[in-house]
Amino acid sequence: MKQLISDIEIIPHNVHTNDSVDKHVLSKNTYTGKSRKLFIETYGCQMNFSDTEIVTSIMREQGFDTTDNPDAADVIFLNTCSIRENAELKVRNKLQYFNALKNKKPSLLIGVLGCMAERLKAKLLEEEKTVDLVVGPDAYRDLPNLLAEADEGHKSVNVFLSREETYADINPVRLTGDGVSAFISIMRGCDNMCSFCVVPFTRGRERSRDMYSILTEAKHLFENGYREVTLLGQNVDSYKWATPEGNTIKFATLLEEVARIHPDLRVRFTTSHPKDMTDDVLHVMAKYENICKYIHLPAQSGSNSVLERMNRSYTREWYLQRIHAIRDIVGQDCGISTDLIAGFCNETESEHQDTISLMNEVKYHFAYMFEYSERPNTPAAKKLHDNVPPEVKNKRLKEIISLQNQHSLQINKKEIGKIHKVLIDGYSKKSSEQMRGRTSQNTTVVFPKGNYQKGQYVFVKIHDCTQGTLFGTVV
Ligand code: SF4
Repeated sequence: MKQLISDIEIIPHNVHTNDSVDKHVLSKNTYTGKSRKLFIETYGCQMNFSDTEIVTSIMREQGFDTTDNPDAADVIFLNTCSIRENAELKVRNKLQYFNALKNKKPSLLIGVLGCMAERLKAKLLEEEKTVDLVVGPDAYRDLPNLLAEADEGHKSVNVFLSREETYADINPVRLTGDGVSAFISIMRGCDNMCSFCVVPFTRGRERSRDMYSILTEAKHLFENGYREVTLLGQNVDSYKWATPEGNTIKFATLLEEVARIHPDLRVRFTTSHPKDMTDDVLHVMAKYENICKYIHLPAQSGSNSVLERMNRSYTREWYLQRIHAIRDIVGQDCGISTDLIAGFCNETESEHQDTISLMNEVKYHFAYMFEYSERPNTPAAKKLHDNVPPEVKNKRLKEIISLQNQHSLQINKKEIGKIHKVLIDGYSKKSSEQMRGRTSQNTTVVFPKGNYQKGQYVFVKIHDCTQGTLFGTVV
């Protein structure tokens, strides 16, 4: 599975609570100002982003307000990513910057949360003297105790990985700020052991969240004006929840139950795994108009020998059979994206060309594309050699990116003249005269704002495009 990666994203959070809003939808528009201030910065993937919403809720219960100004903070949290080396380097650089703040304000507390905290554990306290607490992804309930320890001058660590924890009873504080789309984490951890991946070591074993708590959260979001939910998991296809009556709820059932909440609630999910994605999920997608026709299906490589070294548990042929199933059952225009790694251990030029030919065969809407970055203590680091020279990795990555850009543009050009149903989620980044939203296939559409509002559905006729965006007019 892709680790839900979108490359390093730094998001300062400015969150306040408003108890008048339904308890399940904590928004960010009241500020008590009496209490201590928390500055929290999130790196990495949507799962980490969703965790930051849970951490903010736990801290709010402790009377913390949040600020987006680190200089005004009493406590600073970095919710970190460990997926590639440079993800951790960015955190270390940031800690240097916060060290200066701490010299000015000795009472300032600094906490490192997330995957880097879990990977390095107490060692991080030795390596980074600025850090007061190290907290892994399953230990956020312990934050109040750890902070109390730190307030008394004790450095504290909790990196216990749980087999049960899903934070199902904690109401995330919504941070997207658009009031239209929200993440709902449906499971945690991953039982796959892809040889290049740190996630099984930083997020532990898979556990699925109680379906009814997920449905309750989705219903409350809809009742509070949200019009899109994204169901999050490292591998949503292995969602499996045992009901108190002893029945097993699998992902297709959960997906259908969320879709049935209301036809105006769009449903997305990420991330799927080629070896586990079954046709019943695809049939449920085809049955409900409000389940978006978009799937993120990481391939990582197009070569069977590389897939074997990656321990991905499927072959190129199996992967392509899944792509055909998506297009046969959900529709030829279903949006498909992927993850690709260039320059994995021992990768030959012909194995690289297998990835290129896979891209030409599938033609993805878009892709997350990276050079292989060896992660300590992963099976690949222990058993294989990171022996593809950096310049070769870079050349192969460039080739993959340029081919993907061509495909994205070709695909978008085919949309010119068509009409798409678009959920508006805000103004265009480039002009306040234009609104922005996404198609069911997850492509961004920009159009003149008229009197349209966020959260509204409009039908847009496409008249132009770039590789990343469609341009049109509401019809
Ligand atoms: S081990 Fe594999 S499936 Fe699990 S998060 Fe990592 S890449 Fe995805």
